[in-house]
Amino acid sequence: MSNQNYIIEMLELKDNNIAFEENFYYKEKIKNVTHKVFEGYLSYQPLCCSKCGVVFDEKFEKHGFITSNIKIPDVAGFKSILRLHKQRYLCKHCNKAFTLKSNICDFGCFISNNTKWKIANDLRQKRSEKDIAIANNVSPNTVERIMDSYYNTVKIYKNYLPKVLSFDDFKSVKSADGAMSFHLCNSETGQTIDIVEDRL
Ligand SMILES: [Zn+2]
Repeated sequence: MSNQNYIIEMLELKDNNIAFEENFYYKEKIKNVTHKVFEGYLSYQPLCCSKCGVVFDEKFEKHGFITSNIKIPDVAGFKSILRLHKQRYLCKHCNKAFTLKSNICDFGCFISNNTKWKIANDLRQKRSEKDIAIANNVSPNTVERIMDSYYNTVKIYKNYLPKVLSFDDFKSVKSADGAMSFHLCNSETGQTIDIVEDRL
């Protein structure tokens, strides 16, 4: 396996269009926190112009790079980023420039998909969103957005009550805060409104 492939495999970046040159790795302080920085170049021949849709031909010109810092999962306990220089092309059919896309993160997003998968996996554990946000170097809002996109969560509307409300306490799981948990449901539909860990 080439060094190039080792890096892609090690960082779980499933995009063979990213090239790592010599001195691709260094440490850098970002907001006073030491980060591991991996620097790569995204370049390939696009199939078509992403602005006007014309198929690639000789009227396409390379048009410099645009750089994004993409959060990737921690490496050996250090916050880590992929500093990706993405090739830009100028399409002379529509005279507009566009940036190549990579499948390691969504367009316009600076959090890698494997970071999102890790957060989605962390959300399966009994940990607060805030702790998961700190551990993954993202904001709690990001964690919430990932939870909404990966899991079908039941939204609790606390400013609304059904016409008939039923409630009961019950023994839930050992890890619950109280001895008994508290269940509220809509009597007419049987739908759970909320489960509170402690009946107090
Ligand atoms: Zn075009």
